[in-house]
Amino acid sequence: MADLPNGFTGFSRRDPNFVSAGDALRGSRYDETSFVVRKQERSLAEAWSPAASAGAAAAAPAVTQLSSAASDVLRFAESGTPAGEPPRFDPERLAHIPEVDRRWSWVEIDLNAIRHNASAVKRRLNPGTRLMAVVKADGYGHGAVQCAKTALNSGAEYLGVATVDEAIALREAYVNAPILVLGEPPASAIPLLLAYKIMPSIYTPEFAIRYGEAADAFGLSGPFHLKVNTGMNRIGVRYDEVVEFARQISFHRALDLVGTFTHFATADCPGTIDFERQAKRFYEAVNALRAAGINPGIVHAANSAAAIRYPEVQLDMVRLGISLYGFYPCPEAYPMIELKPAMSVKARITDVKALPVGEGVSYGLHYRSPGAVKICTLPIGYADGFRRGLSGRTDVLLAGRRFHQVGNICMDQCMFEVNLRQRNDLDPQIGDEVVIVGEQGEAAVTIDQMAETLGTIQHEVAIGFGCSRLPRLYV
Ligand SMILES: *Cc1c(COP(=O)(O)O)cnc(C)c1O
Repeated sequence: MADLPNGFTGFSRRDPNFVSAGDALRGSRYDETSFVVRKQERSLAEAWSPAASAGAAAAAPAVTQLSSAASDVLRFAESGTPAGEPPRFDPERLAHIPEVDRRWSWVEIDLNAIRHNASAVKRRLNPGTRLMAVVKADGYGHGAVQCAKTALNSGAEYLGVATVDEAIALREAYVNAPILVLGEPPASAIPLLLAYKIMPSIYTPEFAIRYGEAADAFGLSGPFHLKVNTGMNRIGVRYDEVVEFARQISFHRALDLVGTFTHFATADCPGTIDFERQAKRFYEAVNALRAAGINPGIVHAANSAAAIRYPEVQLDMVRLGISLYGFYPCPEAYPMIELKPAMSVKARITDVKALPVGEGVSYGLHYRSPGAVKICTLPIGYADGFRRGLSGRTDVLLAGRRFHQVGNICMDQCMFEVNLRQRNDLDPQIGDEVVIVGEQGEAAVTIDQMAETLGTIQHEVAIGFGCSRLPRLYV
């Protein structure tokens, strides 16, 4: 057996005079006793093999003699290791170690909250108005597939995404609802649109013509939504040029205009003048299409803020993003609807220490211990969406109470302070569960508060956590 190339030297190759760190700590040297343990480990591996199941009862007593760490790890051994060889790790068994047991930090998504929010908005819709669940950016960090399925079961009929690959991921998860890409993809992606039945938003004649020709070549129709620019000035055909645009592309028999839409720039802002100007321009555009004998299909304009605040622009469909995930798009919406945030962020304590007065914490040592504190470490940092700008400006929850995060948030870890002058009844331990976002008992830390502290919107903070390397757990 060759040496493993990564520092793990096989037991049989070990220098007889070698003392491992573990041996040194235990005060014992590698000796014959470990050989005995290995023999017992092997009998366990044999007991696991289906072929050896007849002999399993006889082998069982050996298992009970094993140290618990050895018997624990041997659950991951391949079955049927030939006698005389050490057991090998079974990749399939290793794969069953849950992500939250690999690293003590995770995102929790409450699909009941998604259900609640979809229904709450649905109840406010005018009769006949459809609900599109916007699940771009992996469902704003909540998981596009799970959120799409939940929303579709709660009254949504349409899905909205930002990219072709986001749409394909839904199709590959057996989501059959109509999917609209909210922008115009590159024309090179057209075969994917047709193959996976994904509708593009269109605003350039070049794309429209290539899409129509490609659809025609495959004997398909090419359904699309026409994007109208009414003042956001991001993408779209100018509101007073839609008829001309429609005429330009009308000779393509495969092209099928199934929807016409615009997007508001200020639906979440206090004033209404700009919002009303955009609404007026959109009605003009839609009326002009109708007057020219063109059916605009499903007419839609409202995002979360507009759908909640301005029922008159719900039209044929609303596009629900941020509120589906339980966030209020603006303070004006608070009294209008009850939403529940679906995302929590949690971690377990990985280190605890009492810190004498004056000792600092984290890069720069900007926090100094006032004495009588315990400093607890969490394995979550800015590479997990816990933005560094929140350093010393947010709290975490332990045992239903708030504690200050202290010191700079690092890439993968951060610290918080348990002040023993205030909480001498609390004895934090490695492994204790801590809430970074969410509720615990009466206490709560919200993404809204974090967004406010950072001077940004909830979308960015939620996506920061949800689209990071943190595993997502559905509850
Ligand atoms: C993202 C997006 C939405 C959803 O907006 P929310 O404010 O999150 O509800 C709706 N329409 C378009 C075109 C979008 O890009």
